[in-house]
Amino acid sequence: MSAKIIDGRAIANELRAKVAIEAKLLTRKLGRMPGLAVVLVGDNPASEVYVRNKARLSVDLGMASFEHKLPVTTSEAELLELVLTLSADLKIDGVLVQLPLPKQIDPARILNAISPAKDVDGFTPLNAGKLASGMPALAPCTPLGCVMLVKNVHRSLAGLEAVVVGRSSVVGKPLAQLLLAENATVTIAHSKTKELPAVCRRADLLFVAIGKPELVRGNWIKPGATVIDIGINRVPGPAGKPRVVGDVAFEEAVKVAGAISPVPGGVGPMTVACLLANTLRAAAMRAGLPPPKLD
Ligand code: NDP
Repeated sequence: MSAKIIDGRAIANELRAKVAIEAKLLTRKLGRMPGLAVVLVGDNPASEVYVRNKARLSVDLGMASFEHKLPVTTSEAELLELVLTLSADLKIDGVLVQLPLPKQIDPARILNAISPAKDVDGFTPLNAGKLASGMPALAPCTPLGCVMLVKNVHRSLAGLEAVVVGRSSVVGKPLAQLLLAENATVTIAHSKTKELPAVCRRADLLFVAIGKPELVRGNWIKPGATVIDIGINRVPGPAGKPRVVGDVAFEEAVKVAGAISPVPGGVGPMTVACLLANTLRAAAMRAGLPPPKLD
């Protein structure tokens, strides 16, 4: 038996279509387009691609895009000033600072300066705290995308055993909070977890976000489980051309799992779509309007 492949591109396209409809409705209510500001410091080629994609997609979906490209020599004080200005700008609903930042800048200081109401990445301590307390919050985009993927397979996650491997503040921890909110029974595993294969084998829903190419093998997976592979790893491919693989050994896992998200084409496309969804949520919240219908 071969697992159902969870098509992140198709699911992200559906979400984008809903975002475009809701953006139009919100534009009418606000009397302006919802706006996303994206800040890039330096010339990291991967970051440039991400920023370009985010800006292009926001325009495609009917939002205003405000791009700020700063030189690699930008000081922390200069970036802080820009973030505070964008946080106060009434035309802007979401502020995103692309990571990583040059070494002279402390990312925590910058991210903490973003207005929590515009924190569309969901990285500020206030939004992380609200999420952990079960309060309405802007949640990080990758975990939001993971939950959408798994809900494409399971209508309800209530009572299912979910194992999240990885405990970063960007992926693992907020993902565990979102799964708890869906009434899953959640275990968080990490590099100090003992008997990791056995822990993974307990999972009805297995999420892997560790950044270790193909660490999770087929025999770590409970037959029929749903596997969401969040890892993005560049490894040498045939003829020396790099290829991208996940944290799960896909060819083995696909023979055991009930459903699996591939890399690429799984979680990746969801992350950007969820960013735009969060921008709409932020715009609606700031205007005191009900949240847009994106489910
Ligand atoms: P971090 O490096 O911040 O965290 C990695 C986590 O994995 C840590 O909690 C670490 O444990 C754990 N870990 C590392 N090695 C092992 C191991 N051998 N066994 C068990 N746990 C281990 O990474 P991120 O959370 O930022 O990212 C994880 C992966 O997800 C990366 O490949 C990244 O590229 C990808 N990613 C993909 C996104 C997407 O859009 N698809 C978005 C964001 C990330 P400990 O805490 O004990 O050190």
